[in-house]
Amino acid sequence: MSLEYSLVLMKPDAVVFSLTGEVISHLEREDLNIVGMKAVEVSHSLAAAHYFEHRHRPFFQDIIKYLMGGYHSFPWVYAFAYCGEDACQKIRDIIGKTDPMDIEPGKKIVTLRQKYGRNVIVRDEAGNEIFDEEGHVVVRFENVIHASYGSLSEYEVKLWFEPQEILSSYRLYPVKTNGKGILTWETSAADLRDKLFCEDFREQIKKRKANL
Ligand code: GDP
Ligand code: MG
Repeated sequence: MSLEYSLVLMKPDAVVFSLTGEVISHLEREDLNIVGMKAVEVSHSLAAAHYFEHRHRPFFQDIIKYLMGGYHSFPWVYAFAYCGEDACQKIRDIIGKTDPMDIEPGKKIVTLRQKYGRNVIVRDEAGNEIFDEEGHVVVRFENVIHASYGSLSEYEVKLWFEPQEILSSYRLYPVKTNGKGILTWETSAADLRDKLFCEDFREQIKKRKANL
């Protein structure tokens, strides 16, 4: 098995509830290394790029606002690049499922999202609850932690970290020096995004052309 990265974010609710140490301490029980870390005031463009895969989902704007700290009094996140064998799966097992209220009756609460996350009812401008097509009240998953999964991990780590912000012995991907002598990723996050979602883009272009 080879080394892989996982981008871990302490979302603004983790920052406001002082959960960073708790999360790190759980992750430290695994054979993983923190190879980059920083505090980030998240811009709209960074949040939108981070959640690019969800750009067509109805909650896209809501998760951008959440990551930017729009629902909490701390408009920043702590970003960590973890590295290790099977890092993504190990971390996802510890943080748990997307919905923090996904709890099986009679089973112990073990994941970090179950322990510290919550679901907040989303309201319209008049303060009324919103219902989805199946009649369920729409909630926001305030699930405290982000951790990359699968093919998105390289994209996410490169989006949040420049090569010089990652420990040199743990730079898993090729780097190059730009005209100003600054290290950059040979394949940038933007290149990766085009590659990862290119099928999707082609589909969209085909549809657009068909509608002309
Ligand atoms: P994750 O990888 O477990 O974080 O989950 P996803 O990549 O599917 O979704 C990204 C984030 O969007 C989640 O962490 C949630 O904060 C939010 N999210 C996902 N699904 C929903 C949903 O159905 N409703 C709302 N309001 N938020 C969601
Ligand atoms: Mg995800």
